[in-house]
Amino acid sequence: MTFLIYDSLTKKKQQFVPVDKNNVRVYACGPTVYNYAHVGNARMSVVTDLLIRVLKTIYKNVKFVSNITDVDDKIIEAAKKEKVKIEDITSKFEKIYNQDMLELNVRLPDIQPKATEYIKEMIIMIEKLVQNQSAYISNDNVIFNVKKYKHYGVLSRRTKDEQIAGSRIEVADYKKNPEDFVLWKPSKEDEPGWESPWGRGRPGWHIECSAMSEKCLKTPFDIHCGGVDLTFPHHENEIAQSCSLVANDCEPSEFSKYWFHNGFVTSNGEKMSKSLGNIKLVNDMLKEYSGPVIRLSLLSSHYRQPLDWSKKILDQSKKNILRFSKVLKDIENKVDTNNLNQNDNDFIRALYDDLNTPKALAVLNGWFDDLKKNSSSNENLVFLIKQALQIFGLDIKRNQSTNTNITEEEKIMIEKMIQEREIARKNKDFRKADELREKLKEMRIFLDDTSGGTIWKKNES
Ligand SMILES: [Zn+2]
Repeated sequence: MTFLIYDSLTKKKQQFVPVDKNNVRVYACGPTVYNYAHVGNARMSVVTDLLIRVLKTIYKNVKFVSNITDVDDKIIEAAKKEKVKIEDITSKFEKIYNQDMLELNVRLPDIQPKATEYIKEMIIMIEKLVQNQSAYISNDNVIFNVKKYKHYGVLSRRTKDEQIAGSRIEVADYKKNPEDFVLWKPSKEDEPGWESPWGRGRPGWHIECSAMSEKCLKTPFDIHCGGVDLTFPHHENEIAQSCSLVANDCEPSEFSKYWFHNGFVTSNGEKMSKSLGNIKLVNDMLKEYSGPVIRLSLLSSHYRQPLDWSKKILDQSKKNILRFSKVLKDIENKVDTNNLNQNDNDFIRALYDDLNTPKALAVLNGWFDDLKKNSSSNENLVFLIKQALQIFGLDIKRNQSTNTNITEEEKIMIEKMIQEREIARKNKDFRKADELREKLKEMRIFLDDTSGGTIWKKNES
């Protein structure tokens, strides 16, 4: 069967043909870690996670890289405001982000590179762009000259005026063209900075994804993911930087073969914004709804469509998940599904058609109806359902809001034990570290050691 994917660069749904079928590579722009993840961040993560799971039903080796932006003006501002170190903010929110996504059953990327760990690679890239005159130095900044790249604007298809008016573009007199963007800028003494050929400074936002995707995946890779709001200027600038390293008329597909963008999330019909106070944080929602309920809600609309977030969607998903677990509970242990294998069915077919999740869900609901009617062990159907739930990433056994099942005191105790374990590991006292892990396991607390620290989850089953 073929997998169809809508490519936002060509604006066409087309057959997915990987650059190398033995090594499928996907990149997604990850979070800037200075705040709690909101439902828009979660949609991007869950939809990308589904894409990876679906690709893995076809390809044996799928490598997924998603970065952490841990140097950014917004982080610097937040640290100043709270009078804490930048690292305190970034490590705290990186951990919270991964923890929240784990609750939504989003698997950690194979590599989760942090921007601050790739400064050297960024400097090398910028030096090359200066050498081949794609970039220029002005007022101690290194600026990318968009006029030098032939295909600039091809992804977002914006006119020049729209580009200038676009969000996050700073019109400054030291730029040759208003759409030009910063690759490197000087840092004040109290700001984070690295030594470079242009003095002590820090990178602009866009260059990190070009540097990390090249280093971790090699270009061209297969699919570049992100929210539709990143199309311009961020993704447009990533293409310009990465392609200009090859040649100033290098085709955008030489960077990423396909572009995968998920739609906006609104809240009760309104755009989510700080000023309206209607931003929904994953961390808060998890106090009321379980991970599977939130995940199912995020997948209930097609990923390219706007998603209007409301209590209605969450309650509907809650009902669905409850129904799923009830039906499955009755037959759970009666059927041995281990020996079956079926990869050609309506559920998979819907997902292979550009991740048509509403259609896939309708198929799944129909299967549950059938199973309820004929509860006598229907091995094949049970297998199909279990497989579908797995691909969807719906672990319905975990259908309890973990945050509400754990008291604040318990949380503090768990965090303390994890800290003790961390110290034991640092001191190479692995016996003590293992003992602590075992103790936590007895409390049904499971640990996952990530580059951003240890994250944990409580398994209810
Ligand atoms: Zn990016």
